[in-house]
Amino acid sequence: MGSENEPQTGKEALRWAVSFLTATGMEHEISWTEGKLLLGKVWQKNVVQLITELDESLDRKSWERYRALVKKRGNNEPLHYLLGEKEFMSLPFEVSAAVLIPRWDTETLVNEAINILKDKGAAKILDIGTGSGAIALSLAYYLPLVSVIATDISEEALTVARKNAINLGVADRVEFIKGDLFKPINKKERFDLIVSNPPYIDAEEMESLPLDVRKEPALALAGGQDGLEYYRRISLVVKEYLKYDGNLLLEIGWKQGKTVAKIMEEKGLAPVKIICDMEGRDRVIKL
Ligand code: GLN
Repeated sequence: MGSENEPQTGKEALRWAVSFLTATGMEHEISWTEGKLLLGKVWQKNVVQLITELDESLDRKSWERYRALVKKRGNNEPLHYLLGEKEFMSLPFEVSAAVLIPRWDTETLVNEAINILKDKGAAKILDIGTGSGAIALSLAYYLPLVSVIATDISEEALTVARKNAINLGVADRVEFIKGDLFKPINKKERFDLIVSNPPYIDAEEMESLPLDVRKEPALALAGGQDGLEYYRRISLVVKEYLKYDGNLLLEIGWKQGKTVAKIMEEKGLAPVKIICDMEGRDRVIKL
């Protein structure tokens, strides 16, 4: 095995990374996968090249960048912040520490939204708390006639989302507005669909999040004492922004289905349906 301080072949560098990451407590198989993904990034090689060209020597600059990235990963920096990208709905999204990393779970909401809108033509969508733009932009991408307004309270998040809109070629149909929940939305606007993946982690769970999740913005995760604050705030006003036959889709934590349904019904929002994710767990509330 090559020493930590010298440029080496790709394979030697990868072996170093695997032993480094394993020593921090990461599972062996995961260290290999993550070590390869990070090597592919600095060395600009795809999965196939990482097999066929792994014995080639790694230039000093790439090795130093690789070593730095692997050390950050060992220090619980989320993998996708280091890669700078996360795939969501089979689309590439740039991510930084300013945004929540899109999760597979959230594809449940997007697929349901596509189902609702696929025959509706030029529908208007509102995405509350867009973050990287994962929901808003994948809807704009897969529904070429819709227009989307996406809000976020974080300007840094909107910068990431705007970049993703350009990368995905949908910037002309998506408007980003800075502000808290519905506040920046014109009171006269009515939408065919309102979507949101609000922060929904309760205060106790916030204290015990995995170390890498703790490096994601608390603003996108913390849903108040019981995790339900944003569902209460959204259900208070959402009706005013929906067309008479409009729908609302909210992502929820898998244990929150019944409680969130109750919060909404108490505000006269009915009928409410709970939709499960691919693992069969409650994941989306639909109005
Ligand atoms: N699904 C995210 C997590 O488990 C939480 C996202 C959210 O609060 N909206 O980390």
